[in-house]
Formats: sequence, structure tokens, C-alpha cells
Amino acid sequence: MEKKREEVTCIKAGLLIDGTGREPLTNPVVVIKGDKIAEIGKESEIKIPEEAKIVDLGNLTILPGLIDAHVHIYGRRSYSPAEEIITPHDLAVIRSVEDCWKILKAGFTMVRDLGSTIALSLKRAVNEGTISGPRIFAAGRPISQTGGHSDIHYLPREEVIKKGALIADGPDDCRRAAREALRDGADLIKIMTSGGIGSEKDHPRYPQFTVDEVKAITEEAHRVERRVASHAEGVEGVKIAILGGVDSVEHGFFLDEESVQMMISRNIYFVPTLCLVEVYKKALERPYDMPPWRLKKQEECIDAMPKSFMMAYKAGVKIAAGTDYFGPPLRAHGDNADEAITMVKYGMKPMDAILAATRNAAECIGVQNTVGTVERGKLADIIGVQGNPLEDITVLKKVDFVMKEGRIYVNRQTAI
Ligand SMILES: [Zn+2]
Repeated sequence: MEKKREEVTCIKAGLLIDGTGREPLTNPVVVIKGDKIAEIGKESEIKIPEEAKIVDLGNLTILPGLIDAHVHIYGRRSYSPAEEIITPHDLAVIRSVEDCWKILKAGFTMVRDLGSTIALSLKRAVNEGTISGPRIFAAGRPISQTGGHSDIHYLPREEVIKKGALIADGPDDCRRAAREALRDGADLIKIMTSGGIGSEKDHPRYPQFTVDEVKAITEEAHRVERRVASHAEGVEGVKIAILGGVDSVEHGFFLDEESVQMMISRNIYFVPTLCLVEVYKKALERPYDMPPWRLKKQEECIDAMPKSFMMAYKAGVKIAAGTDYFGPPLRAHGDNADEAITMVKYGMKPMDAILAATRNAAECIGVQNTVGTVERGKLADIIGVQGNPLEDITVLKKVDFVMKEGRIYVNRQTAI
């Protein structure tokens, strides 16, 4: 049988920031064969295949497709606790499909979803080409202790059970819950080792799960080459997660020096979800339909978050960008570049913020061999933005070109 000839595309642009941390390349040419990057260089240095389709992006800066390492795609459009019950499941699915397109259009070619039952099916829909969206790496159902962050305590118990929440207490039960998550097809496991803001009856500072409970989960995950990410806001919860063997700490709003050193010595990724500090500040002016207990806890985190972030950054913790956006106002999908922008606002160098949203996020997920940088042999996830993000990081929101796995989804230069 004759093998189908691979399509060859050649992208020309004003600047390339390749996501490796190297100096940018001016007037780059990138040759794509099929779904992979075949050549990168100056026009004078490389041979452009005759059959190549030329995509001239003019002055745009091209970068690796951005990666959001912490999202929830489940079609929420409000902060009201009632929405969990009154939104029909089908409507939530339809909104989620819209969110997938918004995320991809915004230049995010991959996301790690840290808790959504819909995301496991969205992932299949994207992979089979039914819908357009980012590549989804999904945790499915997160695991929480009784009364923990994802044991939605403002709902009656039977509603939580109906939603299929994974609630576990004691190491044996945690092991069972981990196996259930894996049975669902989870790409990684998400756990909760502290209280949170969106959970009514706990507090970010309260620890959840014991080290032994976390160990049971990480052991099960690591046996089948899956990672574990922990929601941990207070420092005690962060330490329980680390001692229990997790692979990434999410949020870490109240870090201390010891927890920072623990992350460094164990090579653990930190996903600070720093953009939430801006959300919490804006909510002081306009709270939308956030319940009073949410508003109170948000306010209590505002001062600590940038301090924890900078403490970790200066000490050299590996940081990946994740927004924790889930759909409502202020946390809408499509605004996922907010995290890199906020990181720069609070003191990170623009190049480091770009790395946090590309190479580092890919490493945090464990997909650095295929995506996260524009390098020969990698999947062709390439975006183009108006202007130079090293000079003005906000241009990450001015996305004019999106290619995922060699296929062009957005091209405002030639209006495809
Ligand atoms: Zn989250």
C-alpha cells in the first residue's frame, strides 16, 4: 500500500522563543512534516522543501504552544453553590466543549485538568477529532477525605455520592480510591491535603489526609507510572503532600522556608496558581455571586500568595504555570495566559514565566519529550503572538496563530 505523503508546512515569522531558555532567534523558519517539527533555523541556513506550503506570519513572535498545568473543564459559569445541582449535566458538557475551543484559540495547546469527570470524555473527543481543543491530560475524579476540599460540604451527602466523588479515609481506603481513579482512566491522580477556598466548612490552613494516607495513594499511582498532584494551600498540608511522595504541589499559598527546601530537595514541581491573587483582589470590588465564606477566605490569602511565590522562585523551586480557572467570570477559560502575566507582575523574569508555561509545564506533566519546546522531532504545537513577550508579557493574550500537531486552527494573518 502506498504511504500517504506527509504534508509539509513552512512557517516564517519575526522572532522565535523556543521554550528552551535559549536566546530568541530573529526571522526564523520552521519546517513541519506531518505532525512534527523537522527543521528550525534562518532562511539562509535551511533547505525549504519544494512542496512546502509557506505560512508567512510576518512580524509575529512564535513560541511553543502554551500549557496550563492546572485547569478544571466542567462548564461552570457561576460561583453559586447551587449551580452544582441546578445545572443540567448536558449543559455543563456543552459549555465544556465551548471552553475547549476557547482554550485552544488562546494559544494553549495542552492542559492538565486536575478534577472534572467531564474532562476524561473531552480528552477522548479531542483525540478522536470530534471537537477542537487542547490536548487534555486529566485526573478525572479527585480524592478527598470525608469533609475534605472536594467532599462538597454545602451539598447534602447523597448529592455528593451521586456525583461519584472519591471520598476515602484511612490508608486502605485511600488505596482503593486511587485504584478507582485509575480504573476511570485517570492520567494522574489529584488529591487534597488541605482545606480550600471553594469548600465551605474548611480553611486553606487546615491539613487534610495523613502522610500514611497520601503514601498509599502515591504508591498506587507510581506503580503504574502515574503522578500525583496535591491541592495544598496551608504549609502543613504542603508538607503532608511532600512527605507522602506527591509529584507536584498546587497553590502553596502559605509556604515557609522549610517547605520550599523540601520541594527543592525532592525535585517537586510547584504550581502556584498566582493569578488567583488578582481574582481575589477584583472580587473585593465586584464579588459576582460568590458566597460570603468564599469571599472571606479569598481575602485572607491575598497578602501571603505573592510572598510564597517569590520565596519559592528565588530559592530555585521548579515552577509551572497553572491558572485553576474553571469557567465563571474572572476565571474564564481563554484567559489562561493570566498566570504568566501575573507571575511577571509579581517579580518573575518574562523568560522564566514563558518557560513556566511551556517547557516546565510539560516537565511537570511528564510530556517533555514530545511537547513544550520548539525543537526538531517534537510535535508541532506552535503559536504566534503580536509583539515580543520578553518586552511585554501581556502580548501572550494577543494570539494570531495556533498550530497543534501540525494542523492550523487559527491564522489571523491570512484569515483561513
Ligand atoms: Zn484546582
